[in-house]
Amino acid sequence: MTQDAQQTPYTTNNVGIPVESDEHSLTVGSDGPILLQDHYLIEKMAQFNRERVPERVVHAKGAGAYGVFQVTNDVSAFTKADVFQPGRRTEMLARFSTVAGEQGSPDTWRDPRGFALKFYTEHGNYDLVGNNTPVFFVRDPSKFQDFIRSQKRRPDNGLRDHDMQWDFWTLSPESAHQVTLLMGDRGIPKSYRHMNGYGSHTYLWVNGAGEKFWVKYHFHTDQGIDFLTQADADRIAGEDPDYHRRDLTDAIAGGEPPSWTLFVQVMPFEDAPGYRFNPFDLTKVWPHADYPLIEVGRMTLDKNPDDYFVHIEQAAFEPSNLVPGIGPSPDKMLLGRLFSYPDAHRYRVGANYTQLPPNRARSLVSSYAKDGAMRFQASNAARPYAPNSYGGPAADTARFGEPAGWASAGEMVREAYALRSEDDDWGQPGTLVREVMDDAARERLVSNVAGHLADGVSKPVLERALQYWRSIDQGVGDKIAAHF
Ligand code: NDP
Repeated sequence: MTQDAQQTPYTTNNVGIPVESDEHSLTVGSDGPILLQDHYLIEKMAQFNRERVPERVVHAKGAGAYGVFQVTNDVSAFTKADVFQPGRRTEMLARFSTVAGEQGSPDTWRDPRGFALKFYTEHGNYDLVGNNTPVFFVRDPSKFQDFIRSQKRRPDNGLRDHDMQWDFWTLSPESAHQVTLLMGDRGIPKSYRHMNGYGSHTYLWVNGAGEKFWVKYHFHTDQGIDFLTQADADRIAGEDPDYHRRDLTDAIAGGEPPSWTLFVQVMPFEDAPGYRFNPFDLTKVWPHADYPLIEVGRMTLDKNPDDYFVHIEQAAFEPSNLVPGIGPSPDKMLLGRLFSYPDAHRYRVGANYTQLPPNRARSLVSSYAKDGAMRFQASNAARPYAPNSYGGPAADTARFGEPAGWASAGEMVREAYALRSEDDDWGQPGTLVREVMDDAARERLVSNVAGHLADGVSKPVLERALQYWRSIDQGVGDKIAAHF
């Protein structure tokens, strides 16, 4: 085939040397052996072998888009964070995902969905790494790795195993609230556009006067909540494993940018010690009646990535990216994640992952960080240390120093949160089943659980699972038991 004179010439990767042929390797005669000096062929083969970075251990399969966050209400009484000031419009990135499945796994498997956001604020990147559910399976980061292993594949046969899943859940009663949400309608959203997002953890907000508040984030979908039945999800998993990724891409490309309205629940700082359950326990919600939703603004996703790998696969969200006016709470899971997320990115993408387009700040960056694999941004200062007398950047404590966060004292122990009067594991999932779900939703819950338990769960684990459901709600437990 001859090269069209008008066509852009094909060159080698990044260094731009014109390629002689994209069909034939360099050989000794047309039938002869291939020559090692065919640099172009070697580059192709070597680059191909290195196309993947390790997939995320969790949340491997996802979809994402860029957008904007527009503040619509004045919450400056609660936080001085730039991104939430009246009228502020901030560019952002969102990534949605399943949790346990691998890169090619079907989007419609029953699973919580990740809801990870990055706001490119005036004071650096603010990340909020949440889910489509307001709670989580465990409340201590030391149980997270065990939990995830129970959801993924067995080492002996490489198969996922419902027995393993229910074994872990029933031995960990703190999972009951999240398992109830997972087995209900919200366990398989109709699309990423049709689900809410929750920050899930409690965070600290600090206003301009230094006053402190505890907050929980709720992103309500403006498309309306919708779900897939187990039967529809199973069918779609075969027909189009990328169903949710395609839906998000098509909606944005078709001029229907999805949006979510952000609300927060705000708890006065002083309420936390006396609240009837631990407000930092990630397995609990704060009832709306106690802490009503306050509108903050709207996020709209209106720009598809032009390269999925560059912008979404390499996107690195980390709850440790907290900006002035926002801090962590004593939620043990959150404190564990502050370490584990950036650690995962350093391993998965590389030491200089924050240089990459989705991860780099759009505000001033003036740090002394230098060197490391794949560094391509020049260092800010010729003399890379602080303090220095050559005009290098210096911390502005007067401007950016935060007031003391929260106080803590005590012996070093390995113990659960101290129990308060309503700190049980069954109460909130019981309320969900009895008072929030209607009859039809409860029937689907029973059917979903029974179907899941019927798939390879051993007798002792099944017995424990039936007891688990009876502890959540006697009637629902009895109905599930009737299937066996
Ligand atoms: P409310 O009656 O004020 O809130 C119930 C909430 O449940 C709704 O606002 C909605 O949350 C969510 N919901 C509605 N239908 C379903 C469903 N089929 N499956 C799962 N969630 C659904 O009562 P409370 O605030 O006192 O909470 C009662 C229970 O509701 C909790 O124990 C918890 O299980 C569940 N819930 C509570 C949330 C909270 O933050 N308070 C958030 C989500 C669930 P949304 O408006 O966020 O869509």
